[in-house]
Amino acid sequence: MSKMTPKDYMDRESKYGAHNYHPLPVVLEKGKGVYLWDVEGKKYYDFLSAYSAVNQGHCHPKIVKALTDQAQLLTLTSRAFYNNVLGEFEEYVTKYFGYDKVLPMNTGAEGDETALKLCRRWAYDVKGIKDGEAKIIVCENNFHGRTITVISMSTDPDAYRGYGPYTPGFIKIPFNNIPALEDALKDKNVAGFLVEPIQGEAGVFVPDDGYLKKAYELCKKHNVLFIADEVQTGIARTGKMLACDHEGVRPDILILGKAISGGVVPVSCVLADDEIMLTIKPGEHGSTYGGNPLACKVSIAALEVIKNEKLVENAAKMGEIFRGEMRGIKSDMIELVRGKGLLNAVVIRNKPGKTAWDVCLAMADKGVLAKPTHGNIIRFAPPLVITEKELLDAISRIKEAFKLFE
Ligand code: PLP
Repeated sequence: MSKMTPKDYMDRESKYGAHNYHPLPVVLEKGKGVYLWDVEGKKYYDFLSAYSAVNQGHCHPKIVKALTDQAQLLTLTSRAFYNNVLGEFEEYVTKYFGYDKVLPMNTGAEGDETALKLCRRWAYDVKGIKDGEAKIIVCENNFHGRTITVISMSTDPDAYRGYGPYTPGFIKIPFNNIPALEDALKDKNVAGFLVEPIQGEAGVFVPDDGYLKKAYELCKKHNVLFIADEVQTGIARTGKMLACDHEGVRPDILILGKAISGGVVPVSCVLADDEIMLTIKPGEHGSTYGGNPLACKVSIAALEVIKNEKLVENAAKMGEIFRGEMRGIKSDMIELVRGKGLLNAVVIRNKPGKTAWDVCLAMADKGVLAKPTHGNIIRFAPPLVITEKELLDAISRIKEAFKLFE
């Protein structure tokens, strides 16, 4: 059989796969650190990091070693039995983030589902809300995943349209709006406030300084749980271990995913203290793969890499350089550059026949991969292992791409 062309790969996906994504037309076959290679050997800088899952860089040798070592011993027992690795992970991750307990799952959406269940159980068992009446406040333009309950919280028609009936019990308020939160908290049946510290999928919306702190204090005043979805913002991405750390806020329930396994296997988890976590009893929640030994070993290695390689500090430093350079680009297509650490976005002023999608195609041609969101926003989120030299080289390629639109 003759060698497959990129088009052959794309056509095959289109023929046999559901059409629930619209990828950029590149076909990748290899990754290392900040780099990706396509099937024709072209090398790219990865400026998406699989939506911030690959913070430690592609195929990090320490994480891959943890995977292959454990894969030869034991991969899955289910939680029907104990295994010798789960407790090691539980101790490591709770001490790492400073919580009494952890509940491991697989995907980010499952992490959010778990947090919602915990919040409702706490509402009934601890706060004393009448069974079935708990409400959770969420923010407009949120993104917490794709399950029915999670999309019931969404205000994005692309996410929720055509999937009703929806799960009730959510109050939707504008993000970054303290008066709206104050107002919603007047309802005595409110049990929790679920928020992304920076709205990633919405287009990297960074709230005003002090928003998270004020929101947290209001939650405390009303005996309401502050639930942070740090699936995208957590684990060094924004230049702090957690984005909530920028304001010294410790969430009552913390949801992590993506980079907790460095893009190697799906791992998510929810962290909370005993008063909340122990409301769920044996048999009342779980997952066949959640907390499997392979995931646990990978996760420990991925978290070690974050600390050993000082990725928090690097994300903060490289982020400053990135925004500084990008703000210096003279292009009438750049409306705004925003972000924190290495979670950044450029808002594109679309012109007829020249959109963010075209900019991304041009950047890919120059060797930088990024993807538009919501039509006119490009997220720039490279692996946090990127060096200054690599970053500046990537930026010069991005600048060349923007020049083509002048
Ligand atoms: N929460 C946030 C903040 C996210 O950004 C995402 C994914 O982008 C999710 C949850 C869902 O994660 P997953 O795709 O692993 O279910």
